[in-house]
Amino acid sequence: MTGWIAIAGLGPGAPSLVTPDVTDTLTLATDVIGYIPYVARVAPRDGLTLHPSDNRVELDRALHALQLASRGARVVVVSSGDPGVFAMASAVFEAVEKHPEFIDTDIRVLPGITAMLAAAAAAGAPLGHDFCAINLSDNLKPWAHVENRLRMAARGDFAMAFYNPRSKSRPHQFEQTLDILREECGPNRLITFARAVSTPQQMLNTVTLGEATPDMADMRTVVLVGNSATRRLGRYVYTPRSAS
Ligand code: SAH
Repeated sequence: MTGWIAIAGLGPGAPSLVTPDVTDTLTLATDVIGYIPYVARVAPRDGLTLHPSDNRVELDRALHALQLASRGARVVVVSSGDPGVFAMASAVFEAVEKHPEFIDTDIRVLPGITAMLAAAAAAGAPLGHDFCAINLSDNLKPWAHVENRLRMAARGDFAMAFYNPRSKSRPHQFEQTLDILREECGPNRLITFARAVSTPQQMLNTVTLGEATPDMADMRTVVLVGNSATRRLGRYVYTPRSAS
């Protein structure tokens, strides 16, 4: 039996936002590997072994998937959203690079709807012109890089999406993020806090940078910052497609 790995995105939360490709692939799986809450979104069944693990062990998890596949297992590694956005796809390739004996593993990446796109759709079209995505966590990079990227993106007049904006272990960095943005973009720029998008707990809150406070974000929030042309239109927020 030939094993394989599919690295699948489960979307932002709603079952209707899981792609048919991911659903079909899960029906073929013998093993599902991933962070505990993501594995919990996969229905148990006979012949399927679930391997939930803690969030900080991405490389171990990736190596585990490669070992299982080399023994013939059909492994789905699950991420929320899209697996290529601050998630498991890079971790699996990094593990292959460290363990070249797995280079011939059949690896497929199955895209999913990432949080910023689900949030943008819920708000209107705040990412309708050029934009960038920044992971505000400094677990895997120095905070100085984050600060620099924030300033460069603001000066380039990109709209921005921030993942992992604020956690209990990093309480002050989002405050610094807001300070940098106010400095670079002024107080009137629109910022949308989109929490638990596509789930029953979904909350959307659009304010100006002058009104924004750090407690508006947590780890279930993706934060969207408009460019200089982003505006409100009734209850929507949108960015025109023409140059600003
Ligand atoms: N691979 C995921 C991102 C993982 S990083 C994706 O493509 O969406 C985890 C961060 O994603 C969270 O801290 C939060 O910023 C964001 N996120 C994930 N799901 C979300 C949701 N349903 N609503 C709002 N933000 C979400």
